[in-house]
Amino acid sequence: AESWDQVPLAPPDSIFKLTAGYKEDSFPQKINLGVGAYRDDNSKPWVLPVVKKATQILLEDPNLDHEYLPITGLPAFTSAAAKLVLGADSPAIASGRVCSVQTISGTGANHLGALFLSRYYEFNGDKKVYLSDPTWVNHFAIFRNVGIEPLTYPYYDPKIIGLAFEQLLNTLKTLPPRSAVLLHACAHNPTGVDPTREQWSQICDVFLEKGHYAFFDSAYQGFASGDLDNDAWAVREFVKREVPLLVCQSFAKNAGLYGERVGALHIVAPTQEAAARVKSQLSVLARSEISNPPAYGARVVSLILDNPELFEEWKRDIKTMAGRIIEMRKELYRLLTEEFKTPGNWDHIVGQIGMFSFTGIRPEQSQALTEKAHVYLTQNGRISMAGLNTHNIRYFAEKLDKVVR
Ligand code: PMP
Repeated sequence: AESWDQVPLAPPDSIFKLTAGYKEDSFPQKINLGVGAYRDDNSKPWVLPVVKKATQILLEDPNLDHEYLPITGLPAFTSAAAKLVLGADSPAIASGRVCSVQTISGTGANHLGALFLSRYYEFNGDKKVYLSDPTWVNHFAIFRNVGIEPLTYPYYDPKIIGLAFEQLLNTLKTLPPRSAVLLHACAHNPTGVDPTREQWSQICDVFLEKGHYAFFDSAYQGFASGDLDNDAWAVREFVKREVPLLVCQSFAKNAGLYGERVGALHIVAPTQEAAARVKSQLSVLARSEISNPPAYGARVVSLILDNPELFEEWKRDIKTMAGRIIEMRKELYRLLTEEFKTPGNWDHIVGQIGMFSFTGIRPEQSQALTEKAHVYLTQNGRISMAGLNTHNIRYFAEKLDKVVR
C-alpha cells in the first residue's frame, strides 16, 4: 500500500492554531483577538436580523427547490452584487463591460481572478503579482497555487504605524509596466491602514501612467466606515478613470455569512464584446473546479439587495457592526491615553479602520500578552477589534499597558 512517506507534515494554520489555544484555556477572562469574524458585545457570533428575515422568506417560498445554479451563479445575485460594489449607476455596468461570476466567497473570487490572470493576462515577462507588505497571508498561497509568483510592495511603515505612502508610490513607479498589483479596497487586512482619497488618486495616476492592472480585493465593504458607498470609493474611482481591473467581493463579513461562502468576481473589460469572451472563459474555469456555486447564501443576499426595505435594514445592521467596532476603538484609545497614561502614541488605534488594528507592539510583547494575560493575538501585534467589548476592554487595556511599560 502507498505509505505517503514523501508527504511532509504541514504546520497548522497559525490563526486556527491560535483559536485552538484559546479554546483550551480555562482562564475566565481570556480574550480572543485573533479571530477575523464579528462578535457582539457578549463575544457571540451575530446573525444579522435582516439575514434572519431573508432566510424566513426563503423557507416559506413554496417554489424553492435545490436544483443546480448556472455555472456562473445566480444571475439576480451577480448583477446586484456588481451594482453594490461598482455603484448602481456605474457606466461600466450600463455599457455591458462588467462580467460577474459567483464564487466561493472572497477566497474563491481571489482564486478565480488569479487563475484567470495566470491563463490569460499578458504578463510583462514572468507571471508575478505584487502584494502589499504585509497582506492577508492567504494571498501568497492563492497566487502560488496558480503559478503566479507573489512579490511585495511597501505598504506599512512600523515607525509611524501608518501608510508608507512615498515608498509605495515610488515602488509602483519602478515596477515593470503592466504589472498586476493587488489592492485592498478598504479596511486593509492586517494593518487597518487605508490610503486617503487624495492618496488613492495619486496611486491611480501611477496605475494609468504605467498601465498596471488593479486586482482589487474587497472583503469588507460597509464594514470599514459603516457606509457601503464610502467603502467602495477607491474601486469606483479606478473604474471611472478606466484603470484595467477586477474586483473580488465577499459577503462573509458585511452580511455575516462566513460559512455560506457568498462572493463574486467582477472583471471590468474594455468593451462589451471583450466582457463576453472573458465571461465564457471564466465559465470554463469555474466548471472544472466547482461546476456551479452554492445556492443558499446567494439567494439570501440577492433577496436583501433586491428588496428596498431589506436593503435599508441591512444598511442599519452594517452600521450596528461598524459602529460597535468604532466605539471599541474610541474606548481603547481613551483607556490607554487618559486612564492608564500608557507610554507611546496611540492615535493609530482611532485612525485605523475596519475589523483589524495593528497595535504596533513587538512580537515578544504579543507573546507575553498571550502567555501571561490569556489574550490571544497574532505575533505581529494585530488585534481584531471585534474581539473587544464593554466587558473585556478594560482588562485588555490594562494588560496592554503592562506589556508596553
Ligand atoms: N481577502 C481578505 C483581505 C480577507 O481578509 C478575507 C477574509 N479573511 C478574504 C479575502 C476572504 O474571506 P472569505 O473567503 O471568507 O470571503
